Amino acid sequence: MTLVRVEGVSRQYPGIHGGAPTQALSPVDLTIAENDFITLLGPSGCGKSTLLRIVAGLDRPSTGRVLVGGRPVTEPGPDRGVVFQAYTLFPWLSVAQNIAFGLREKGVPQRQQAEIVAEYVAKVGLRGFENHYPKMLSGGMQQRTAIARALANDPKILLLDEPFGALDTQTRALMQELLLSIWEAERKTVLFVTHDIDEAVFLANRVIVMSARPGRIIEDRPIALPHPRH
Ligand code: ADP
Ligand code: ADP
Repeated sequence: MTLVRVEGVSRQYPGIHGGAPTQALSPVDLTIAENDFITLLGPSGCGKSTLLRIVAGLDRPSTGRVLVGGRPVTEPGPDRGVVFQAYTLFPWLSVAQNIAFGLREKGVPQRQQAEIVAEYVAKVGLRGFENHYPKMLSGGMQQRTAIARALANDPKILLLDEPFGALDTQTRALMQELLLSIWEAERKTVLFVTHDIDEAVFLANRVIVMSARPGRIIEDRPIALPHPRH
């Protein structure tokens, strides 16, 4: 089943001080099936974040459109959980309050909020840290919180933009395993941006490679070899 359709999406940023505009993305077509774990791989500046932000509804394409579950994307929505590399948690909210943020906005009753928060706190290994504030947490724990917050709304797709890019090697490996176990247990669809080829191949069942000037897809292949994690 197709979950996401990217149809002829391009993005041009206006030039600064009257300079030439930047073609960040030339028209991209892409379909994402339910349960796909796609890594979007490519050098810095090739348009990976631009494409992810457009799918997230955080940016508008210059041409084309994105459909999620058959519905055109015009803004962020609970069907898409987003995790960035850093600075994504509300510093004035505790771990539990951060995770509950979207549920509260939706008006989910308090008791149900608490149940969902407890469920995801456990899933990401943050028991005992519910009342901690982001600045008291390591980078890995902050990203665990961000992943829990993204999952708490039960999105159809998880959009991650270099989520482990700022972590040390060991923490990063732990977080990769955590994400894979969540993906396998919850049957989520994942779009994961990285410039690290090892990470891209390790995580994904489908790797999409982009190239710069202007940003476009140059490869799209399933990882068919015996998977490193099996
Ligand atoms: P990547 O995520 O692959 O590093 P980006 O999507 O961030 O690439 O950027 C693609 C291109 O668009 C780059 O040339 C970048 O400098 C440019 N760009 C990104 N965001 C903006 C912006 N807000 N204004 C102008 N240019 C931008
Ligand atoms: P408010 O900001 O409305 O006072 P709280 O700070 O009590 O709310 O909690 C915000 C959300 O986080 C609520 O949904 C609550 O159920 C959940 N929550 C708060 N603390 C914990 C905790 N220690 N364990 C699990 N869930 C918690």
